[in-house]
Amino acid sequence: MSRFLSQRFSTLTAYTPGEQPKIKNIIKRNTNELPYPPSEAVSAAVKESSENLNRYCDIGCTRLREALGANLKVAPEKIIMTNGSDEILNFAFMAYGDKPFAFPDISYGFYTVFCALHKIAYEEIPLNDELGINPEDYIGIGKNIVIANPNAPTGLALPLSDIERIVASNPDNIVIIDEAYIDFGGESAIGLIDRYENLMVTRTFSKSFALAGARLGFGIANEKLIADMDLIKFSTNPYNVNSLTQAAGLAAVETADYYMSCCDKIKETRAYTASALRELGFKVIGEDANFLFASSDKISGEELLTKLRERAIIVRHFSAERIKNYNRITIGTREQMETLIKSIKEIIS
Ligand SMILES: *Cc1c(COP(=O)(O)O)cnc(C)c1O
Repeated sequence: MSRFLSQRFSTLTAYTPGEQPKIKNIIKRNTNELPYPPSEAVSAAVKESSENLNRYCDIGCTRLREALGANLKVAPEKIIMTNGSDEILNFAFMAYGDKPFAFPDISYGFYTVFCALHKIAYEEIPLNDELGINPEDYIGIGKNIVIANPNAPTGLALPLSDIERIVASNPDNIVIIDEAYIDFGGESAIGLIDRYENLMVTRTFSKSFALAGARLGFGIANEKLIADMDLIKFSTNPYNVNSLTQAAGLAAVETADYYMSCCDKIKETRAYTASALRELGFKVIGEDANFLFASSDKISGEELLTKLRERAIIVRHFSAERIKNYNRITIGTREQMETLIKSIKEIIS
């Protein structure tokens, strides 16, 4: 860092994204992307939109919010589009950081980074021994709460009834439910936003809608919370979602059936992969997202990571003590997963 960097950032540790290797012919299953391409409508829409790149984009993402609202049965006024869901999460931490936040000790790594960035106090609540969230730990705790549902990297979802109890018991605090993986399993909390003024749901097009590279996410909440988010958005970057991405997102929503059939394929392949791993003696945690979190007594998490990499298969390993024996394996195509299982068999035999 330079000597000019503000003091308040001098001890900041940034988020470490999963690597994006440039090597060809690898099976890249480390950042929870869909293995399938976007629908054909997306590239056509992007091409058409590119002809208007001389113009600023629509700051309200009007057509996209209308299509998305119709798809989710939510009024467009209750939706804000952002540059990935990381941006809506950043806005929310920034807006509500006067009060401390609470979230699971094992969850999306960005939550602690946002707290560090905005100097927000936080409490990490330990997952239980089975790496699940104990809902009682969050009942009436009087802190802002962020829960990824399904949680990452465990792949376990809480039932909606537990989410509702958590939201209802903390009426003076914001509860953010990060639904990055909801299209792969679990029950959405979107239906609760009119009942609870303290609830915000965040979603992304990066996982189930195959648009990780386009950077598109959104928040869903009542109009007052959306106004808070707009305040931050218009104070940082009003043009936060560029016109190519808006066009891509609109075309994706209009071809939602294609993506839902992709998600069905992922769920089938997930079931195949989980049972194949269990047959090999692996412990597999949750099956609610588009990844599995697996460990084995026969090989350490780190060794498996290394040996798979030698075979051009990239998965994600986290070094936190409680989960260092696990790897997070993003579900790919059936063929990719068969190759993975074959390689793991060779490695552990
Ligand atoms: C991937 C992910 C996000 C961020 O996704 P974007 O690409 O920024 O939309 C947010 N939360 C969780 C739990 C994720 O896994």
